[in-house]
Amino acid sequence: MDFYSMTLPALEEHFTRQGDNKAKAKKLYKAIYRSSQAVEDISDLSDKTKRSILDSFTFDLPKQIALQDDGETAKALLEFPDSSRVETVLMRHDYGSGLCVSTQVGCSMGCAFCQSGKLKKHRNLTAGEMIAQVLFMQQYSDIKHISIMGIGEPLDNFDNLKAFIEILSSPYGLAFGGRSITLSTCGIVSQINRLTEIDCAFNLAVSLHAPTNELRSQLMPINKRYNITDLISAVKNYSENTSRRIAFEYILLDGINDSMEQAVQLADFLKDLNCYVNLIPYNATDSGQFKRSCNADLFFDTLKKQGINVIFRREFGGSIKAACGQLSAEYD
Ligand code: SAH
Repeated sequence: MDFYSMTLPALEEHFTRQGDNKAKAKKLYKAIYRSSQAVEDISDLSDKTKRSILDSFTFDLPKQIALQDDGETAKALLEFPDSSRVETVLMRHDYGSGLCVSTQVGCSMGCAFCQSGKLKKHRNLTAGEMIAQVLFMQQYSDIKHISIMGIGEPLDNFDNLKAFIEILSSPYGLAFGGRSITLSTCGIVSQINRLTEIDCAFNLAVSLHAPTNELRSQLMPINKRYNITDLISAVKNYSENTSRRIAFEYILLDGINDSMEQAVQLADFLKDLNCYVNLIPYNATDSGQFKRSCNADLFFDTLKKQGINVIFRREFGGSIKAACGQLSAEYD
């Protein structure tokens, strides 16, 4: 079994099943996650216990295939034992680093503007494979924030995502507080309704990208299943249950979704929500289908005038194809 996929309750159950003291689970968790110790070096566990732990669990990190670093952003291409590859991206801010974690090998959401969507989904990542991305990048930097926004749709992999966030946020585990975790989804409403099953009030970001169902369905196939009204109502519930402010991500695409009229439409249905809009500059993908908006400032000002909180997303990693929407897990 992969140790990094084990939530604390699952590990406690493992020790109990072995007829052992479940308090060892917390000891082991703390040694591995809080003090980065190897099992062999944990001083307050007996040799017999350590041997049994090493017989039961593996503690392997993925293989590094490539690492590109432009000084501000570092992108690692990682390979798991079945040859599946994903990318994980470190962004260095003045106040500390953020890590963008992938949740699937490929993605089957098929958003028109996204490179990852062209990969098709090969499989889900396990919770341990998501944790391993964090442990891998922690070797290079002190990570303060986790964005679940890499390759894949996290809510298309709910059970593993839930375990990942539980391990990530456990005070005995990696101890990231809910405020330092952000999950981004394309809007799988049935799974947004289940988010409160996860015992951690993290930040929710929603990829919106269009103010009408007609346009959103053209850009994002998921909208044909869950329309904007259903999405907003699910997100509103999450915000009310957790008191978290929702981020709506909106890529500005030239001549497609960036007019003043569209800004007003967008403001109209966001008015009563505890939210802000995160405007994202479009990053080029292989499709060559879209262009960056020339109307970004006017769109921003129009939203502001309508009373909507709005920010521009800071750009990272364009020169090493590590920016939003550019991750392809390819290497040449
Ligand atoms: N599947 C999740 C998370 C991965 S994408 C989601 O859809 O939210 C992370 C963010 O990058 C999303 O907001 C996505 O819409 C955005 N993105 C995708 N392609 C992009 C591109 N070409 N330029 C800029 N942002 C892009």
